[in-house]
Amino acid sequence: MNQFLTRRSFILIPIMSILKIIFKPIKVLASSLNSREEWNLSKEQWKSRLSPESYYILREEGTERAFSSQLNNEKREGVFHCAGCDLPLFLSDKKYDSGTGWPSFWDSIQGSVLTKVDFKLIVPRTEYHCSRCGGHQGHVFNDGPAPTGKRYCNNGLALRFVPD
Ligand SMILES: [Zn+2]
Repeated sequence: MNQFLTRRSFILIPIMSILKIIFKPIKVLASSLNSREEWNLSKEQWKSRLSPESYYILREEGTERAFSSQLNNEKREGVFHCAGCDLPLFLSDKKYDSGTGWPSFWDSIQGSVLTKVDFKLIVPRTEYHCSRCGGHQGHVFNDGPAPTGKRYCNNGLALRFVPD
């Protein structure tokens, strides 16, 4: 009997350790929701996560009215996160008053946004979106201040500000 038990644990223990090794990375990935693939949510999933206004901006490439966002006047130090997936996109020290009525930045956090050209106003514009969840943020123009000369014109509804 004792011999049987010993033999059984001798077989079971290595199997358990192998299973632990196999399942550990999967568990880590699922809990952090960090990759682009994991943020590939359905329309319904996005609708349940976002307000109708933010859904319109982030998922349908809408634009909020100029001067409608409180973040336009936000002057505290902090970080502007994607309202869709919370990825940090802009730092407050890169924010400036462009006079356009939308929160404006002369640089984004490296790797946080990706661009594509759209023709919604006939003239080509460079749209940019969150590199993680793909949520539309705004358009980037080449009339910004030094040192980059860029103007990231962002919808306030697509951002969440976290003060320092
Ligand atoms: Zn995002």
